[in-house]
Amino acid sequence: MTSALNLALAKIVPSVITDKDLIASYTSDWTGRFNGKADVVVRPQNAAQITEVVLLCKKFGVAIQIQGGNTGLVGGSVPPPNSLRPICLMSTSSLNSILDFDVVTGHITVGAGVSVAQVQSTVRARGWEFPIDLASRESATIGGLVATNAGGIRVCAFGMTKQSVAGIEMVLADGQVISNLTSPLKDNTGYPISDLAVGAEGTLGIITAVRMKLIRPTLSSTLFVIPCDSVQLAYETLLSVQKAGHNLLAAEYVDAKSMQLIMSYSQLRPLWPVPPNVTVFIEVAGSNIQLDADPRALGTSNAGEMRNFWKYREAASDSWTAAGKVHKLDVSVAVDQIGTFESKLSAMLSNFEIVTSYGSFGHLADGNLHIEIVGPAQDDYEIDKSVLELVAKFNGSISAEHGIGRAKREYLGLTRDAIDIELMKKIKEVFDPEKLFNPGVLLPD
Ligand SMILES: Cc1cc2nc3c(=O)[nH]c(=O)nc-3n(C[C@H](O)[C@H](O)[C@H](O)COP(=O)(O)OP(=O)(O)OC[C@H]3O[C@@H](n4cnc5c(N)ncnc54)[C@H](O)[C@@H]3O)c2cc1C
Repeated sequence: MTSALNLALAKIVPSVITDKDLIASYTSDWTGRFNGKADVVVRPQNAAQITEVVLLCKKFGVAIQIQGGNTGLVGGSVPPPNSLRPICLMSTSSLNSILDFDVVTGHITVGAGVSVAQVQSTVRARGWEFPIDLASRESATIGGLVATNAGGIRVCAFGMTKQSVAGIEMVLADGQVISNLTSPLKDNTGYPISDLAVGAEGTLGIITAVRMKLIRPTLSSTLFVIPCDSVQLAYETLLSVQKAGHNLLAAEYVDAKSMQLIMSYSQLRPLWPVPPNVTVFIEVAGSNIQLDADPRALGTSNAGEMRNFWKYREAASDSWTAAGKVHKLDVSVAVDQIGTFESKLSAMLSNFEIVTSYGSFGHLADGNLHIEIVGPAQDDYEIDKSVLELVAKFNGSISAEHGIGRAKREYLGLTRDAIDIELMKKIKEVFDPEKLFNPGVLLPD
């Protein structure tokens, strides 16, 4: 059956991969924790080819795993290891064209496979800025950004991805294409259907193109790197910056364990002779700004120096990945609870004998912690569950920005109401009754 499917696919799409070794390069995720199996990989070039592939897979009873840059951290970008249905992995990497760029109003329309870095450099060359920035920018795609409603380091200033989406084109499970790429910017005519694709993690359709709203670049900024004794004191430092009325562009933290791994992974020198418990990165608009902060704080408005300081924070996720098969959890609590949560979490994790190492870093101004845990086996979810239950006790979210993927779907009910989950299942049923797209991602069985 699959060879008949492969032959038919080859008539539609120029790039069909059936070699097992080549397929394997698509079926493991960035962290190495999630590994799956696919029968074939296709790389279509446009929505028309995607429609034909979708109809063919439907006819053959084959599920489709959608993959952008494969930088997702919750297993949603790779197939499951033990699917009863054959799986066609669809990579959007060939949907890589800039389709339209309105330099007057600041809107760009791109294929779903265009990388974040490509959009950033394209718009910067014409006096605009892309509001989303994250360390995975070279590989992460615009389709993936929208499908996960990604956040990043600029959320406190410009919002999550959904705040910048102005239009989406998406292929549905019955092969139809919906699009509001060229609709008027103001269009209040009922349910905003395309918006459902944002944060749906590919469960409702295949995003083929996106129109994004741009911002004007901030002309100058100052970055402060501040040593703190705890996450609570880091939060209080941030609060004092906000109370002083500064225009916040980013506020991040890295704990001591993460910093130790960052320095050895990226061969970066220590910032201070005695390493602090927590390093805080606060960027505000304007040059040569003065802060009333710890006298050891480092501050600069020089673009090159700022880039060098940001390297410490940006290496955090990859440094943990290099440290072993890491359990990565991305959670949020109310911003003023971040210190209390972090100390409860540390106390809890230190009691698990199986945990050999743990730490956190994240988006301080969003109450968003990226928690890294080494020790438990890849398929051991006991620690994950305990952390997520603690998050639920704080009324937080079990996924602040990475999504639910395959990693957290059983725990969705911890922080989403039963009625929400019921409605999500009904929406899935309307869009994709045969569960063609990304089976096993996001929704619990
Ligand atoms: C070093 C590093 C730093 C990161 N930092 C951040 C951060 O600060 N903030 C943050 O939010 N995330 C961060 N991430 C996570 C990740 O980069 C984002 O989730 C990103 O949006 C994923 O994009 P992608 O193209 O790699 O998607 P993939 O990983 O390929 O896919 C992610 C999900 O989106 C679906 N999908 C992908 N493309 C499409 C499409 N065209 N149509 C429908 N569904 C699709 C997939 O099926 C999957 O469910 C980081 C990851 C790394 C490795």
